[in-house]
Amino acid sequence: MEPFVYQAQSQRVVFGSGTIAAVCEEVNRLGCSRVLVLSTPQQEESAATVARGLGKLRVGTFAKAAMHTPNEVTERALRLVAQLKADSIVSLGGGSTTGLGKAIALRTELPQIVVPTTYAGSEATPILGETQDGRKTTMRSASVLPEVIVYDVELTMSLPIALSVTSGLNAIAHAVEARYARERNPVISLLALEGTRALASALPLIVANPRDRDARSDALYGAWACGTCLGAVGMALHHKICHVLGGTFNLPHAETHAVVLPYVLALNAPAVPELDRRMAEAFGADSALAGLLALRDETGAPRSLRSLGLDENQLREAVRPILDASPEHNPMPVTAENIEALLRAAWAGKEPG
Ligand code: NAD
Repeated sequence: MEPFVYQAQSQRVVFGSGTIAAVCEEVNRLGCSRVLVLSTPQQEESAATVARGLGKLRVGTFAKAAMHTPNEVTERALRLVAQLKADSIVSLGGGSTTGLGKAIALRTELPQIVVPTTYAGSEATPILGETQDGRKTTMRSASVLPEVIVYDVELTMSLPIALSVTSGLNAIAHAVEARYARERNPVISLLALEGTRALASALPLIVANPRDRDARSDALYGAWACGTCLGAVGMALHHKICHVLGGTFNLPHAETHAVVLPYVLALNAPAVPELDRRMAEAFGADSALAGLLALRDETGAPRSLRSLGLDENQLREAVRPILDASPEHNPMPVTAENIEALLRAAWAGKEPG
């Protein structure tokens, strides 16, 4: 066993079907009575259901969360928090809504209850990414870690197939990079394998039948495991690439992760053969890359940055910020040349590796 340090995070997790009914009780447990409900405009209806369930505990709803947590949206939400004298946040949605709740918590210390409806995993992390004038910055702070997560499988039944797949691959990306993180430890390494196993087996079943409740339940469980990995250890090249592409060129988050991951895995796996062997087992394949490519084929995941709307001329522009942001502990040394080669291959959708 390698030496390790493990710091557990303090967070309450309620997982099941129909658990949305427990949100009221969770608000009471926190000693709060003036809830602001958050969602995206697309999920306003689901937010209204939660709001109705909260009854008098709810003082308002802000249904304007947007991807990459733009500061101007946060400022509008903060004005509402002050006006309503809200004492807590219930964020219903994916990483975009959770991001807004965290941005509010950072500035107000209000407690958060997150009800996740994608597999992005933000609810399990003390990480906040925010965007100002097209620049995305990320920070880690215990003050943004949500106090409570209420996972309700029922709320994921409506997640469109394409987003289920890309969001699931986004979660697997957390697990892949957690395996070779500098701060890796036995608890998180096991969760990474378990999360990958759960998602790799559930995603094809969801594609075949998006209302397969058992598969949805496994995928949500996998998302929690992978999100916990993201929250506990540092990430490497893959997350830096997606962070720059999303923040600078406004590429969609989950889709970008889905396209880029096989290219980073092809680059890094030869440098960490033992970690790759265990990951291969989790995928049920001969190598992690083979398992990931088979999953990508089976689920029809997007394959190129070009298909996500990135212009070829923007590739060069992305190299320097990725190089500057990449940690030294990436398994393979990162250079301007290998980043550019990776981006060009991912842009064109060439066979990884
Ligand atoms: P998202 O939250 O932007 O959701 C994508 C779209 O799907 C939205 O329109 C949303 O309303 C809709 N949607 C979500 N769940 C649905 C459901 N069950 N049924 C129908 N529609 C649904 O997407 P995401 O990929 O979850 O989050 C992306 C954002 O989260 C990015 O800004 C990313 O940076 C951030 N993120 C942060 C962390 C972190 O730890 N800080 C981790 C992962 C992602």
